[in-house]
Amino acid sequence: MKGLLGLPRKDADQRCRPVTLPELRERMVTADVGPFRVTGLDVAVESLTRVMNQVHEHEPDLFHRLGTAGMLCCRYVRGSTRRLSNHSWGTAIDLSISGQLNSVGAETVQRGLLKLYYHFHKEGWYWGAGFRRRDAMHFELADETIKQLIIKP
Ligand SMILES: [Zn+2]
Repeated sequence: MKGLLGLPRKDADQRCRPVTLPELRERMVTADVGPFRVTGLDVAVESLTRVMNQVHEHEPDLFHRLGTAGMLCCRYVRGSTRRLSNHSWGTAIDLSISGQLNSVGAETVQRGLLKLYYHFHKEGWYWGAGFRRRDAMHFELADETIKQLIIKP
C-alpha cells in the first residue's frame, strides 16, 4: 500500500487520525453511496458505489439495513503497533446491518455479510473474514484491484 499510494501520515497509533500526505489527501472524496455517506479514496468510493448499486438491485432489503462504522481513518491495525490498517488509505470499510456490528474475532458471521461478500468479491474487494484475526464487518480493496484502478482509472 505504501508503495502504491504513499505513507498517509508519519505518526500513527490506535486512534483515528486524518491523512497528512498532500497527494493522498487531495484524492479523498465524500459521497453518498446509497445507504450512507462515506469518505475514502476516489477509486475506492467509486468501486463501493458499484457494489452498492448491485446490492440495491439484488438484495434491496439488506441494502436498506446497511450502515457503516467508517471508511477513512489513519490508524494501526487493532492490536498492532506498526502495521497500518487499510482504512488509513480510505480503501477499507466497516459495515453494520440493522445497526449491529459483527465483532472482531467472532465465530459466527451475519448472514447479510455473506450475501455482501459475493458483490464485493466481484468488484475485487477482500473480506476481513479471511484475516487471521477474523474481522467480518471489514471489506477492503485488494492490492491487485487498487493497482488496476490506479493505472486505468
Ligand atoms: Zn475495518
